[in-house]
Amino acid sequence: MRELKKSNYNVTMISPRNHFVFTPLLASTSVGTLEFRCITEPVRNDSRNHSYYQAQCNDIDFKNQRVHCTSWIGEIIAVGSHCNTFNIPGVDEHAHFLKDINDARRIRKRIIECFEEASRPGLPEKTKNDLLHFVVVGGGPTGIEFSAELCDFISKDAIRTYPEDLVSRVRMTLYDVAPQILGSFDSQLSEYAHKKFKHKGIEIKTKRFVDQVQADHLVIRDEGKVPYGLLVWATGLTPSPLIDTLADRVALDAGNQRMMTDGKLQLLEKDNLETLQNVYALGDCATIDDYDLPATAQVATQKASYLAKVVLTEGNNKTKTTPHNNFMFKNRGKMVFIGSSEALIDMSSVHELAKQSGRLAWCLWRSAYLGMTFSIRNRMLIPYHW
Ligand SMILES: Cc1cc2nc3c(=O)[nH]c(=O)nc-3n(C[C@H](O)[C@H](O)[C@H](O)COP(=O)(O)OP(=O)(O)OC[C@H]3O[C@@H](n4cnc5c(N)ncnc54)[C@H](O)[C@@H]3O)c2cc1C
Repeated sequence: MRELKKSNYNVTMISPRNHFVFTPLLASTSVGTLEFRCITEPVRNDSRNHSYYQAQCNDIDFKNQRVHCTSWIGEIIAVGSHCNTFNIPGVDEHAHFLKDINDARRIRKRIIECFEEASRPGLPEKTKNDLLHFVVVGGGPTGIEFSAELCDFISKDAIRTYPEDLVSRVRMTLYDVAPQILGSFDSQLSEYAHKKFKHKGIEIKTKRFVDQVQADHLVIRDEGKVPYGLLVWATGLTPSPLIDTLADRVALDAGNQRMMTDGKLQLLEKDNLETLQNVYALGDCATIDDYDLPATAQVATQKASYLAKVVLTEGNNKTKTTPHNNFMFKNRGKMVFIGSSEALIDMSSVHELAKQSGRLAWCLWRSAYLGMTFSIRNRMLIPYHW
């Protein structure tokens, strides 16, 4: 939307969320390293030249080019995705997710509640210990970054605020069904993170399956009941409900998770795989036929720039000089914060030796994300809070 000119297009944005969230730094807000406003940008700042409606898109009539919405105070489809609970009983009701600002706010509140509840006089020792058991399910980048932030919070901030007797009871456990954490990273880097976490006292339990979640405990297969005070669920993504509604008309990928587009991001019809005229899909909710890419902000933003700069210029009445190429992803690698001023950078997709762990990687991690922040306000606020 920011790249489209009002003189060429009549743009309407529809989203129940009236702000953009810079998710790479979301985990930092859940423990107070950064304030919530540091990672949000109001949509209306960029919508002065375009229209914005706070509403939810429930259905799309492709034939008549109508978007059906419910106002409850999203024809480019970018409705993101939801957290995957794998239909494990109790996860939706009791676990905390980390997808949005409100999730980070709830997590922050719950951490404080756990400390305050555990400090009540007369509480049995076991209850105190259970309240101060912080569990994370999912050893991907989100689960790892959250665990790292929480561990830093406990060792640097909680230690100054709460009695020693309380802080020394804190336990952190990270569960994953996979054999190793950070499976998408180079194995040397993921082993480095594993070692660092172990050293900090974070227990990593891989090859574990969660069978059930209750208000105060989870049930782990072959382990039994595990009491917790806070449970953060970070096991990946599931499609937005809008995709279920459109499933009878649009082509979906093999796992029925994402809508399928052609190389120019035009949505494909379900039965004949023909392109739906004037309808594009990008971001976590879409994938390109025969060119599957991960659901990351890196892919989403490159697709957005492609769509704004290349495909939509076709509608500009300008003489086309070159035929427009299909979208090509430039993999710039991945980064993850692992706590105590350390990070991992894996750019092995660019060069096999381009891997970095430790403090230098952390400096690069911070500079990269600061560089990607787009308002001057946040470029000043983020370093101030850091
Ligand atoms: C904690 C966390 C950390 C991450 N870190 C990284 C990282 O370091 N690097 C990286 O590349 N990626 C990262 N990601 C992934 C990245 O955030 C996503 O890939 C990216 O946000 C996808 O963009 P999107 O626009 O498709 O979806 P989103 O950013 O999820 O935006 C979807 C928007 O659609 C709105 N919406 C939903 N349903 C409807 C509807 N029915 N009608 C109208 N509007 C609707 C939502 O309110 C929202 O505003 C991270 C994700 C998380 C959760």
